[in-house]
Amino acid sequence: PPEQLPLDPTKKTLVILGSGWGSVSLLKKLDTDDYNVIVISPRNFFLFTPLLPSCTTGTIEHRSIMEPLRHIIRHKKRAVKYYEAEATKVDVDRRVVKINDFSDVKGTVSETEVPFDYLVVGVGAENATFGIPGVKENACFLKEIGDAQQIRKRVMDCIETATFKDQSEEEKDRLLHMVVVGGGPTGIEFAAELQDFFEEDLRKWVPDIADRFKVTLVEALPNVLPMFSKALIDYTEKTFKDENISVRTKTMVKKVTDKNIEVESTQADGSKVKESINYGLLVWATGNAVRGVVRDLMGQIPAQKNSRRGLAVNDYLVVDGTDGIWALGDCSATKYAPTAQVASQQGNFLARLFNSMAKTQAVEEELRVLDARLQATADEAEKAQLTAEINAKGRSLSKVKQLSPFQYSHQGSLAYIGADRAVADLNWFGGAVSSATGGELTYLFWRSAYVSMVFSLRNRILVLTDWLKTKAFGRDVSRE
Ligand code: FAD
Ligand code: NAD
Repeated sequence: PPEQLPLDPTKKTLVILGSGWGSVSLLKKLDTDDYNVIVISPRNFFLFTPLLPSCTTGTIEHRSIMEPLRHIIRHKKRAVKYYEAEATKVDVDRRVVKINDFSDVKGTVSETEVPFDYLVVGVGAENATFGIPGVKENACFLKEIGDAQQIRKRVMDCIETATFKDQSEEEKDRLLHMVVVGGGPTGIEFAAELQDFFEEDLRKWVPDIADRFKVTLVEALPNVLPMFSKALIDYTEKTFKDENISVRTKTMVKKVTDKNIEVESTQADGSKVKESINYGLLVWATGNAVRGVVRDLMGQIPAQKNSRRGLAVNDYLVVDGTDGIWALGDCSATKYAPTAQVASQQGNFLARLFNSMAKTQAVEEELRVLDARLQATADEAEKAQLTAEINAKGRSLSKVKQLSPFQYSHQGSLAYIGADRAVADLNWFGGAVSSATGGELTYLFWRSAYVSMVFSLRNRILVLTDWLKTKAFGRDVSRE
C-alpha cells in the first residue's frame, strides 16, 4: 500500500465503534483525508456473517470469512488509528469514549479514554435469551467466529462420547440429539448445515451413529422464517421433513439445564403441554438484544426514554437527542430488520454524509475568507470578481448540502435450507418486480451471490477453495 498521510490536528476526530457490517462499510467508503479516524472494536477483523453457519461444520474454514481490519485501514488515504478494545461507556456530556482492552495479553495500560468530535456507534447486538434460566450457562450461540468453532468442537465431542465404550442406549440418544432453538434464518441455516454434515460425512465415517443422530428445531411461533413468503415457508418446512430434521413449532423453551430443555407446546385445541427434551448440543438462535454499552448510552439521553430495541435515530441516522453522534446497524432501532443488508447500506450512507459534511465545511470556510476580502476592498473591479466567486461557491454549497435522508433498498432475502437447496425472496429493479424461488438453482444463485459479495479477492478465493475441498474430500471430522 502507498504511504499514508499522517493524522492532522486541524481536522475533526471521528470515532467509529465496531468492525461489523455497518462500521466497515462506512470505513471503506469514507474519505479519510477529511477526518482523523479512530476505530475501536474488540474484533480486529470484519466477519462475513452470512457464511458463519457453514463454519460450524467445517464446510468453510473460519479464516476464509474473516477480513483483517489492518488490510482495510492500511489502504486509506490518511492513517486510521485502530484500538483493539471494547467501548465500555460513551460519556455524552464529556464527549469521550471509555475503552477497555479485555484481550488475554495486557500492557501496563488496558483502560483509557478517547475523545471525539463525531461518534458513530456500530457495536451490533448481543444474543437474546429473554432471561430464560440456564440458557447463558448451557447453550451455544451463533454470532461470532468463536461460537462457530465451539459448536464444531462440541458436535464432534458429542459423537465421540456417544461412541465411548459401554455408553448406555439412552445416553447415546441424548448425546446425538442436536437441538436448535429459534426458527429464524440463523436457526434454519444452522440446522440445515448440521444435517448436511451428518448425511454427507458423519454417516460415512461414524456408521455407529447413523440411526441415532437427530436434529430438532424448536420455534415458539406457528411457523419458521416469518420474513419469507408463505410458499417459501411451506417449501422450507417440507424440505426439512424430507431431510429428517424435526421441526417443533408453537413450542416455547421455558428452562434449560445442562442436559435438557423444558418446553411448553400449544396443541391444536389451544391447550398447553409441558415436556422435557434431552440434548447433547443446544444452539440458541432467538435473535437480538441490546448491548450494555448501548443501554447505558440510551440511559444518558432523555429522548431515548421510550426506545426499547436500540438507539432511536432520525432519517440521517443521528441518535435522537444528541449532537454529533450517529448509530447504524443492529444497535439502532429503525423500521428495518436487523440485517447485514441494512447495516451496510447505512454505512455507505454515513460515508456519503461525512464526505459531504467535510466538503460543506471546506466551502463555508472559503466563503468566509472571500466575504472578509469583499468587506475589506474598495476596488470596484475586485468587488465584482469576489461577488461572482461568492455566488458560484454559494451554488456549489447548496448542491453538496442537498443530501437526501437514508433510504433502504431491499434486495431480497436469501437462506440456505440444506440438501443443496436455498429459498430466496428477491426484489428486482428496485422492488418493481419480486420473485420467490426455492430449490437447487436458487442454491447455485445463493452461492454465487455470496461469493461475489465476500469482500476481498483473497476471501473469494478462500471460500471457493473451501467449497471445492468439501466437495472433493468431505468435511474434516477431527476434533480440534
Ligand atoms: P455486527 O456486524 O455484529 O458488528 C458489531 C461490531 O461491534 C463487531 O465488530 C463487534 O466486535 C463490535 N463490538 C461489540 N461490542 C463492542 C463494544 N463494546 N465496543 C466496540 N465495538 C464493539 N444478514 C443479512 O442481511 N443476510 C444474511 O445472510 C445474514 N446472515 C446472518 C447469519 C448469522 C449466523 C448471523 C448471526 C447474522 C446474519 N445476518 C445476516 C445478520 C447480520 O450479520 C447483522 O444484521 C449485521 O452483522 C449487523 O451489522 P452491525 O455492523 O450492526 O453489527
Ligand atoms: P430472529 O429474530 O429472526 O428469529 C428468532 C426466532 O426465535 C423467532 O422466530 C422467535 O419466535 C424464536 N424464539 C424466540 N424465543 C423463543 C423461545 N423461548 N423458544 C422457541 N423459539 C423462540 O433471529 P435470527 O435468526 O438470529 O436472525 C437475526 C437477524 O439476522 C434477523 O434480522 C435475520 O433476518 C438476520 N439474519 C438473516 C439471515 C439471512 O438472510 N440468510 C441469516 C441469519 C440472520
